[in-house]
Amino acid sequence: MTGPAAAYAAGFLQDSLGLASGSLRPGDVPGDLVDELSSVMRGSPPGDSTTPSLEARVTRFLKELERSAVDEKGFFVRKARWPGAAPMAVCLTHDVDNIERPPEHILKVKDRFSPSDFSKAQRGLISLYDNIDLIREREAAEGFRSSFYLMSKEYPLEKVRASAQRLRAKGWEVGLHGDFGTHDSEEEMAKAVKRLSEGIGVRPRGLREHYLRFDFGKSWRVMEDAGFDYDTTVGTNDRLGFKLGLAAPFHPPDEEWRPLNLLELPLSLMDTTLWGYLKRTEEEGMRDVKESMRMVEEVEGLFTLLWHQEAVRMKGGRLYWKVLRGLARRKGLFVGSGEQVARWWRARGVPLRPAEGGGVVTFGGSPPKGLTLVLKTRDGTEPRVTSGAVIRRRGEVLVSPSGRSFKLQVPGAR
Ligand SMILES: [Zn+2]
Repeated sequence: MTGPAAAYAAGFLQDSLGLASGSLRPGDVPGDLVDELSSVMRGSPPGDSTTPSLEARVTRFLKELERSAVDEKGFFVRKARWPGAAPMAVCLTHDVDNIERPPEHILKVKDRFSPSDFSKAQRGLISLYDNIDLIREREAAEGFRSSFYLMSKEYPLEKVRASAQRLRAKGWEVGLHGDFGTHDSEEEMAKAVKRLSEGIGVRPRGLREHYLRFDFGKSWRVMEDAGFDYDTTVGTNDRLGFKLGLAAPFHPPDEEWRPLNLLELPLSLMDTTLWGYLKRTEEEGMRDVKESMRMVEEVEGLFTLLWHQEAVRMKGGRLYWKVLRGLARRKGLFVGSGEQVARWWRARGVPLRPAEGGGVVTFGGSPPKGLTLVLKTRDGTEPRVTSGAVIRRRGEVLVSPSGRSFKLQVPGAR
């Protein structure tokens, strides 16, 4: 297949799979893959949105590429998706819809809270709905950072300014939770960015729209023009699943199929889907979180979790602490804020270049710390590596470059 959509698909796959520059031509991408990728980018649902089905199709394509390259050239090499070839990445995010509720509302819903939290709140010792600092401290204890998306006019910004500045000072991200009307209007978006920047003294670089409002014909363009680094709105709210069938960062296409500078971090799961829409028990909800993560890990993907900050003292919402502990126990995952994930993904984009002489690859720039190559060779031929190390892990040959002068050579390969 050729044409602009096929060229977009080839670029998408080269970036997504960490392929050597120029190794995939538009004509090499199977027609069904171009069709599905281009239709989901324009807003059609994927064949199966209960699983990361399109990501799994992309993974199968990777296996085909690998097989034919090993047959024809004697080797195949790609950049692993995550630092140290982590099996998956987890992006922790919190929308800040509310920071307080009227006393009569709190009395009505008091059973949602533990008796001790309720009584402390009655005595003015804690806030039940403003948990920004609490979440930051508990995440810090596990060694994680996250993103908080603040609305620009739903609550007085002076009430969150001090927390937001502490977040920034300690390496957490403060982004924009887009107010109503921002997802399809450049003017409204510009106003919201200005209000938030002035209100808390931080210019937002990451974004999630309130209620996951998204218009495939407009939103990415509005976000790009407002200068955002990434968006993480595209997900489902009334059911579990993967709206695009995708589970990795990507550059969305513009109207003519050119990739935008903006990155999309597809949303994988939202806490309120479990309790608000699906009425899960805590036990069922925890199972859903684990199952969704397992599906993402199967495709070496990104699991983007949205957990509303107002919910962490409530039934259901309090499971967040359990999720954090589970992630910390699983050593070797890449866990971070949207800002950290997006920064990694851009740094990983350093070109991997086939060099003259065959069987040789180098980098067209400095590889970021943690960047790892996954290598397959015919009959397990040993590579020669300059400025780097070879690591064997669970039957895989990984190569860890240590600088600009890195060179990988596979003897006898073409
Ligand atoms: Zn919201």
